[in-house]
Amino acid sequence: MALKLFNTRARSVQEFAPLDPAQKRVGMYCCGPTVYDFAHIGNWRTFVFADLVRRYLEFKNFQVKHVMNITDIEDKIIRRVRETETTLPEFTGKFEAAFFEDLKTLNCLLPHEIPRATEHIPEIITLIEKLIARGIAYQAADGSVYFSIEKYRGGGGNYGQLLKLNFEEMRVGERVKNDEYAKESIADFALWKSRGPDDGDTFWPSPFGEGRPGWHIECSAMSMKILGTSFDLHLGGEDLIFPHHEDEIAQSEGATGKPFVKYWLHGAHLLVEGKKMSKSLGNYFTLRDLLAKGFTGREVRYLLLTAHYRETFNFTLDGLQGAKTALARIDECVIRLRALAGGTAAVPNSDFLNAFSAALDNDLNVSAAWGAVFEWVRKINRKFAEDPLIVAEAASALAAWKKIDSVLGIGLIDESEPPAELNQLLLDRFRARHEKNFKRADQIRDELKAKGWAIEDSPKGQRLKQL
Ligand code: AMP
Ligand code: ZN
Repeated sequence: MALKLFNTRARSVQEFAPLDPAQKRVGMYCCGPTVYDFAHIGNWRTFVFADLVRRYLEFKNFQVKHVMNITDIEDKIIRRVRETETTLPEFTGKFEAAFFEDLKTLNCLLPHEIPRATEHIPEIITLIEKLIARGIAYQAADGSVYFSIEKYRGGGGNYGQLLKLNFEEMRVGERVKNDEYAKESIADFALWKSRGPDDGDTFWPSPFGEGRPGWHIECSAMSMKILGTSFDLHLGGEDLIFPHHEDEIAQSEGATGKPFVKYWLHGAHLLVEGKKMSKSLGNYFTLRDLLAKGFTGREVRYLLLTAHYRETFNFTLDGLQGAKTALARIDECVIRLRALAGGTAAVPNSDFLNAFSAALDNDLNVSAAWGAVFEWVRKINRKFAEDPLIVAEAASALAAWKKIDSVLGIGLIDESEPPAELNQLLLDRFRARHEKNFKRADQIRDELKAKGWAIEDSPKGQRLKQL
């Protein structure tokens, strides 16, 4: 079955067909973090969503090139660098490192390329020069370079591809220098911001004078450098639709005259306990806050993946508690299957795979996909209870689960590492043998086997190995 996705540009669900004539290679760009603070769980909803899209495309045998930038120069960063009296690399480096740690904790695959804005100043300048040469950008009296919406539209450019804009209210030549602005102020936006007194040491030389790039042009320059002038997928949270993505389209198509992106995917926002996250409401969580409360990255990932990406999701601590129970049900089933299947190779059970992929093909209907997972767990448990599974069936179910978990990414993360309580059992067995209590030692060995683990001799002594 073909994958269908909601394309913000088309305002409808469309069949996904990459630009590659062989229908194999897919270029995907997701706007990355602005490294001015620790990413909060709202941000993580969007990055986990991007990870799901990439993993599912790979499941469908596409060859994905996943690019995610690091916004390491932007208005908020400049402000914080000034307030904290640090240097730009010192300040952003700390939050970038934290971001990658969190990415790993949430078991997100590392994008294939992770360009930093500050390392692409020459490409950004070249793009701005192109826009000036085409008469779509101009340098204003304040020294900054702006994108002219009027000139772009006059030349046939379509501004407002992602959302309806009211051009009646547009006052030609009105400018915004801020990176973020409301859609009521459709105005020329900054491509290059001339050096101001608040910028400190953060500026670069350019043909337009000293200054720094605007946020939107960074993504146009980096995405097209790596993925080409036209590519397949561009993702981000819904707040990026305007102005960020609309401006990216205008800059890119204005400079190249070619269509920029085929499919625009936007994830809906995350609320916490029914409200917008805010520090003053006490409902503002980073991943670290949740880990400090004793939750795991795996539980957070599971919860973030339970709702459809286009629905606003209400994150609650009770929901996170529920994630523990749900994961335990899956784990128990998988552990029993492992114990029975041992290392038997098998063809993945196609019923389970088909139910799962039919759900995700339908605009990534993840709730239906979880429905298929829990239905599978119920079926397996029933079989264990009533009509014992045979080894081949268990192996085939397990093979299907492995494939499915290559998309969900919530499996027992390090499969070779036994849970702590099993290591404790191994120690108990060691002690029992030492005390010559061989009956107890054998009992423990059987107990471990039933849980899917064998005892193996290694140069470092005995250790547990998964069956
Ligand atoms: P930023 O680091 O602010 O550039 O944001 C990184 C990503 O997180 C962007 O794609 C945003 O759209 C997304 N984002 C920000 N707030 C939320 C939220 N509350 N829920 C979901 N995504 C969000
Ligand atoms: Zn971007």
